[in-house]
Amino acid sequence: MTTPIPFSEAFLHYIWQFKLFDFKDLKTVDGESIELIRVGRQNDHAGPDFSDARIRIGGTLWAGSVEIHKKSSDWLVHQHQKDKAYKNTILHVVYEHDQSIYRADGTTVPTLILKNKIPNQYIERYWALETNQQSIPCEQQFFEVSIHLKKMWLDRLVVERLEDKTAEIITCLEQTQYNWEVVFYQFLARNFGMKQNTSAFEALAQSLPLMVLAKHKQDLFQLEALLFGQAGFLFELNGEEVEDKYLQKLEKEYQYLAHKYELIALNASSWKFGRMRPANFPTIRLAQFAVLIHQSSHLFSKILATQHVVDCKKMFHLELNGYWDTHYRLGESSSHRKKRLGSKTIDLILINTIAPFLFVYGVYKGEDRYKKRALELLQLVKPEVNMVVAQWQNLGMKPHSAYDTQGLIQLKNKYCRAKRCLSCAIGHKILQRSSS
Ligand code: SF4
Repeated sequence: MTTPIPFSEAFLHYIWQFKLFDFKDLKTVDGESIELIRVGRQNDHAGPDFSDARIRIGGTLWAGSVEIHKKSSDWLVHQHQKDKAYKNTILHVVYEHDQSIYRADGTTVPTLILKNKIPNQYIERYWALETNQQSIPCEQQFFEVSIHLKKMWLDRLVVERLEDKTAEIITCLEQTQYNWEVVFYQFLARNFGMKQNTSAFEALAQSLPLMVLAKHKQDLFQLEALLFGQAGFLFELNGEEVEDKYLQKLEKEYQYLAHKYELIALNASSWKFGRMRPANFPTIRLAQFAVLIHQSSHLFSKILATQHVVDCKKMFHLELNGYWDTHYRLGESSSHRKKRLGSKTIDLILINTIAPFLFVYGVYKGEDRYKKRALELLQLVKPEVNMVVAQWQNLGMKPHSAYDTQGLIQLKNKYCRAKRCLSCAIGHKILQRSSS
């Protein structure tokens, strides 16, 4: 019975890429000498694992691909013998050799065995990360890595996070023939929904064209009728007599506008009110969204023209109409209280919508100044407060702005959770630190 190999192929790729094995006096399984000149470039797409390698085998210099497997028989398991892309493989690197591999012309694929050539320290350190069940598997070793390296890595991750968001925004832009205002409106609406009502706000923005709202932007009452009606909050009344005069008026107005623009309302059950403070109820958010549209046209163009974060924030100081001073929900009166978007909510809008749009715009236009502004904006916004950030704080990180927290969130969500320690600069340092 064969013993299972206790690590992934990705680990062997890593060992090969950084030449972390004893590469003196290397020989193929057939006894030919191997001299590594270039290990090649890692290939993330289909085809051999490394391309453009330079290796001297038995005195002949070869240029081509390197394929890596845990066992040589994996070549056949993966059916490479039938794939032309592997024709140019100059070396098969395996941990264990259990079968000779031949090319289509009958010649042997030179094979190098790594077993007994990888220092134990790498296997042990990798294994410690791989088997750790904590949500940040390196938490024991995290303190050994310098803050300088961590900061450099986080700088890269903030950009990576914005790039990830870029892909999503670009897809929506393509669907709207690059109508920046419409896509910005849709993303902003999602952001107004916060965590609980993101999908409902998104569905609302998709069912209610910005063009319709723009036609009525001078009239806050009509904007509310459109938004609340389309959200399903007025449709729910279905002609019933209600005592609330304002609500009655909204319903009447919506019926007229819905008919005019052939709108089909969402179902009010899509909206969540549970486990949130009344000031965050979707009804309050919708009223604030109506005011935002009422106050500003061509929002995205305005954002592009705004140079200072303070002015950007001012756009979200939204004064609701008097009805909302005594209501959290339509038709249900409450004690008098002014409702405003809290500074944390405004910061989240800056982080999740404004900064990514500035960044994408810079990418699209090929103008670095917008990308720079996106990063500067994050540096001027307070650090986020959430469980992920708290975990990093427990490990000694001290975020000073949203720029720092965005990097930390990317690290946790895209690397630690997926155990991508081999692709992480911190993991890299932990694996390769010199032994004491
Ligand atoms: S991905 Fe990086 S930071 Fe996360 S656990 Fe692995 S080594 Fe640590």
